Amino acid sequence: MNTKAAVLTFFLFAWLQVMSKEPIRVLVVTGQNNHYWRESASILTKYLNRSELFKADVAISPGSGEDMSIFRPEFSNYKAVVLDYNGDEWSEETKAAFLAYVKNGGGVVVYHAADNSFPKWREFNEIIGLGGWGDRSEASGPYIYYKDGKLVRDNSAGPGGSHGSQHEFKIVAVEKEHPIMKGLPASWTHARDELYDKLRGPAMNLTVLATAFSAEDTGGTGRDEPVLMTVTWGAGRIFHTVLGHVGKEAKHPAVECSSFEVTFLRGTEWAATGAVTQTNTLISK
Ligand code: ZN
Repeated sequence: MNTKAAVLTFFLFAWLQVMSKEPIRVLVVTGQNNHYWRESASILTKYLNRSELFKADVAISPGSGEDMSIFRPEFSNYKAVVLDYNGDEWSEETKAAFLAYVKNGGGVVVYHAADNSFPKWREFNEIIGLGGWGDRSEASGPYIYYKDGKLVRDNSAGPGGSHGSQHEFKIVAVEKEHPIMKGLPASWTHARDELYDKLRGPAMNLTVLATAFSAEDTGGTGRDEPVLMTVTWGAGRIFHTVLGHVGKEAKHPAVECSSFEVTFLRGTEWAATGAVTQTNTLISK
């Protein structure tokens, strides 16, 4: 084979390898939420599929108060499970299957109000790291936030989970070298959203990737609150984004912005594979 043919063959094989790369299978779990889950699940799925890096399926639970025993997603068929669920308890079998999935290295993405769910399920709270509402209190674990540039684990008494009025806010990178954050600017502006504050939970193996200042004049805490996080549990990797409120309004700026899409897709890839190959970034602000 002459050099030209060898070079051509090399490129042909490289191209074939790229073309034959199977998309990462992701399962979006939804069906009950205090948010407009049909809309949010459809937007999440759209982002995953159009990236061509993922192929998303959706598991829709029975409605609130219905028979949950029939809800048995095949978690183990997927590299990442995106939780867009805040509702009735799953069956013991489904809970056990989810824990086995994460323990064995399955990826999880905790999206917005998914961290409100299952306040009494110990392992679930270890997996999400921090949660809010559902009568969470000091018994759930410390408040986690940044104050004067330092991570604070605050064990003071009080409820978990709150947010002020919806507004646009600046997100600041904390762990700039983490694969999810690498290549993103030091800070950027996130579209109008709820900024969760006073989240609390076990916070074991938790890394805060980015924070946002929760201003008191918008009803916040005056602290830098975690907005993007990772947790490890067993062999599983968890990406937790508090961003992305989808309510009854006609428009959903909190998810229909590049800030949400880029961080969600990067976080999902990291949860699924432990690496981020995407080079999409954001405009510095
Ligand atoms: Zn919300």
